[in-house]
Amino acid sequence: MGDVPEARRGAPARGAARPAEVPGHLPGEAAADLSTLRSHNLGIVLRMLRDHGTLTRKDIEHATGMVPASVTNLVADLAARGLVRDQRGGFGEARGRGRPRVTVEQVPDRVLGLAVRIERARLTAELHSSAGLLLDSSSRTVTHGWGQPGDVAEAIAALIARAATLADAHGGILLACTVTVPGPVGSDNRIADTLEFGWGHLDLVGLIRAAGAPEQLRLDVVSDSCAAALAEHWVLPRPRPGVTVLVGTGSGPSLVGGVVADGRILAGGRGYAGAVGHITVDWRGRSCECGSIGCVSTYVGPDALLASARLTDLAHMAGRAAALDELRARLDRGEKRALDVALRAGDILGAALRSAYDVVNPSTVVLGGYLAGLRRWLEPGIQMQLAPRSEKLAPVTIESGRLGSRAGMVGAARHGLQPVFDDPTIVPALRTDDAAVG
Ligand SMILES: [Zn+2]
Repeated sequence: MGDVPEARRGAPARGAARPAEVPGHLPGEAAADLSTLRSHNLGIVLRMLRDHGTLTRKDIEHATGMVPASVTNLVADLAARGLVRDQRGGFGEARGRGRPRVTVEQVPDRVLGLAVRIERARLTAELHSSAGLLLDSSSRTVTHGWGQPGDVAEAIAALIARAATLADAHGGILLACTVTVPGPVGSDNRIADTLEFGWGHLDLVGLIRAAGAPEQLRLDVVSDSCAAALAEHWVLPRPRPGVTVLVGTGSGPSLVGGVVADGRILAGGRGYAGAVGHITVDWRGRSCECGSIGCVSTYVGPDALLASARLTDLAHMAGRAAALDELRARLDRGEKRALDVALRAGDILGAALRSAYDVVNPSTVVLGGYLAGLRRWLEPGIQMQLAPRSEKLAPVTIESGRLGSRAGMVGAARHGLQPVFDDPTIVPALRTDDAAVG
C-alpha cells in the first residue's frame, strides 16, 4: 500500500488502532494481531514525520483519524525508541496565550543506512540517516578493476565497520547496508552476469558476511538504476504518483532505468523488472549487449545517440560526458543533425514507453542522467507516441531527474532504511535515562 495517502485525505488510516480500548488479557493470536496493528500504526506516524518534517500531535490526529490518547501513546513509544522527539519553539497562532507550540520531529541520527556503490574502478560509500541527512561519505579507487569479488567484499565489510563506529558515536544504530551495482540483480540478491565485472551469478552478500559484516545488519544488493528510480520518485512534487518510470540514468554506454510502484522499487517476481532500456522497439533491429535484439537502448542509449550525432570520435578523445555536453550545445544552437537525432530519439523512446505504459501504467516518467538535459527535444516525441493510450486513458507527466549522479546512492540508502518505516519496533527502546521525551 502507499505511504499515508489515505491519511492525507482526512479519513482514518487503514487499520488505525485505539490501544486504550484493548482489554487487558488476550489469547495468543489476538495479542499477536494487536502487536502487528501497533507496529502498523507506529509506522504510519513515523512515515508522516518523514514526509512532512515536523507535525503537532493534533496534525497527526487530524490526518489519521486516531484519537488523541492513541497519538500520544504512539509518539511516546517512538520517543522511547529514540526515533522521534519533541521540539518546542514558536507559539500557537490561534491561541497566542504564551504556550509554546510543541511539534514532533524525527531524531535526525538515530537510525542510519549505509549506501555503497560498486563501479568498475571505484567504491563509494555514503552514510545516511532515516531523517535524510548525509552523515559521512568516502570513496576509494582501484587501478585495475575488481579482479576478485572477495576483494570488494572485504572492502565493503571495512566500510560497514567504519559506519557502525560512526553510528555509535552518534548514539544511533546502523540498520542496513545497501550495495548498488551497474547491472541486474536477482531477488535472491545475486548479481547477474554483468559486462562491467564478469563475475557471473555471484552471492556478494554471502561474501560480505564472510568478510565480517554483522549478522543482524540488513544487507541488500540492488541495481544502481533501480535505486536511482526510487530516489527520483521521492523527490517528485506532491502528490507523488503511484508508479514512476525512470529512464536514462547511469554513466555507462547503455540506457538503463527502473520502476517504482507505491514508493518501492518494483523488482518483479525474480528481481529483474524495471529494465526499461531493454524494451524491444524493433524485433529485427540491432543486437544489444543484453543478448536481445532491437532494444531501445541500442537506439537511444548514450553511445547510440553519440554515434547518430557523429560524436563517437569526440567521446573516445574527451570522454562520453564531454561528447554528450557537445550534443546538448549543438541542440542549443539549433544544428540540424543534432535536432534530427534528438527528435528521432524522442519518437523511439516514446514507442518504448508506450509499451511500458500498458504494463505498469506510470503517471510520471522521469528522464534522468544524460536524458535530463535533452528533455526539451525528447518530450514532444514521447508525448506523441504515448498519445494514443494516454489521451484515451490517463496522461503521463514527463519530468527531468533532479538528483543527477547522486540518485543511486540516495535511493540505496532509502531502500535500506524502509524497514524502520514499515515497523519501527525493529528499533529497540533506549535505556530510560537516554529517552528524548516522555
Ligand atoms: Zn537489451
